Amino acid sequence: MKQIKRVRVVRRADGYYVQFCIDTERREKREPTFKTVGIDVGLNHFYTDSDRKTIPNPRHLRKSEKSLKRLSRRMSKTKKGSKNRAKFRNKLARKHLKVSRQRKDFAVKTARCVVKSNDLVAYEDLKVRNMVQNRHLAKSISDAAWTQFRQWVEYFGKVFGVVTVAVPPHYTSQNCSNCGRVVKKTLTTRTHTCLHCGHVQGRDHNAARNILEKGLSTVGHIGTNASGDIDLCLGEETPLSKSGRGKRKPKK
Ligand SMILES: [Zn+2]
Repeated sequence: MKQIKRVRVVRRADGYYVQFCIDTERREKREPTFKTVGIDVGLNHFYTDSDRKTIPNPRHLRKSEKSLKRLSRRMSKTKKGSKNRAKFRNKLARKHLKVSRQRKDFAVKTARCVVKSNDLVAYEDLKVRNMVQNRHLAKSISDAAWTQFRQWVEYFGKVFGVVTVAVPPHYTSQNCSNCGRVVKKTLTTRTHTCLHCGHVQGRDHNAARNILEKGLSTVGHIGTNASGDIDLCLGEETPLSKSGRGKRKPKK
């Protein structure tokens, strides 16, 4: 019936998996909601949207990260080449697997939800920021979660026929979403207070509104790559990107 494009055997810390890649198009019907949304990612929340709704950071991910650290510390105390070390290595690999599955689950569910309830989703094109190396664990976790979330937003955008726009991240937090003028602020300034029009708003909420505004003004571009290949798979254990593929594999 359906053509199988590719079969692949994948080895994970908890066993072997067989992947069947099927040549099919996934399109789902969805009634328009006449709603549009802008999304601002942050460290305090996973994201804040232009309606001031906030999605909290997934707490279970933080917890898993803690136990990951603990496990690797314990492993480093075992003797090299010992059975005990091998045991810990497998434990650690399984934990890594669990974390990556949890992260993916969160990304899929959150993305599906935001795409289904809007006709347009705008977010920042954060490629530039991702390239900046950072030593803060919390920050890198949220970056990884965000990158994955964005991939799924774009995936579901194609599935449900919802417009997704990545806008350049410049000035989204500095501009006033009410009058459009620049209001300089540092990273620690959590509230946007406009010196020009007196508009007061939470920093992230203000940014999300600017992102939506930018998204709406670039909508002329839709349709250009609407027929692009969907390369994500919903099933278990499909590596999402080349970089993720290497990292997830337990070291031999
Ligand atoms: Zn203003």
